[in-house]
Amino acid sequence: MDCIFCKIISRQIPAKIVQETSHSIAFLDAFPLAKGHTLIIPKNHHMKIQDMSNEENIDLFSLVHKVLSKVDKLTGSTLVAVHNGKDAGQEVPHVHVHLVPRTLGDSAGPIHNMFKHAKFSDSEIEEIYDKLK
Ligand code: 5GP
Ligand code: ZN
Repeated sequence: MDCIFCKIISRQIPAKIVQETSHSIAFLDAFPLAKGHTLIIPKNHHMKIQDMSNEENIDLFSLVHKVLSKVDKLTGSTLVAVHNGKDAGQEVPHVHVHLVPRTLGDSAGPIHNMFKHAKFSDSEIEEIYDKLK
């Protein structure tokens, strides 16, 4: 499969690996948004979080928990983000959790900065709520 992250796992392309478990691996992002920007991925190729097995999911987020405690020490605040699907901004179709150290004035701001036109009626919200609960 022609997947950059699968090639990192199989060591076909190099990466600065931070930590590894049986099912997951953490490494530095090659185009960091901040110093210490780290990616954590499952070793099996899955596009979305819900495609992983329960075991893989537990292993991935346990590694997120471990690596986050180190990354968060860099600045004291961290963006933890997953783009789960192409339209969500996912460019590499292999599950990855971003840990991006944040600082005051880094220009990223709060999550509401990402969505310029979010405004919904009460009935629209009720309809979605009925589907989700
Ligand atoms: P996405 O946009 O899919 O949420 O994030 C993909 C991330 O993978 C980006 O932050 C990008 O910088 C990173 N990336 C892309 N190619 C490589 C690579 O070859 N090596 C590493 N370490 N990171 C990469
Ligand atoms: Zn892959």
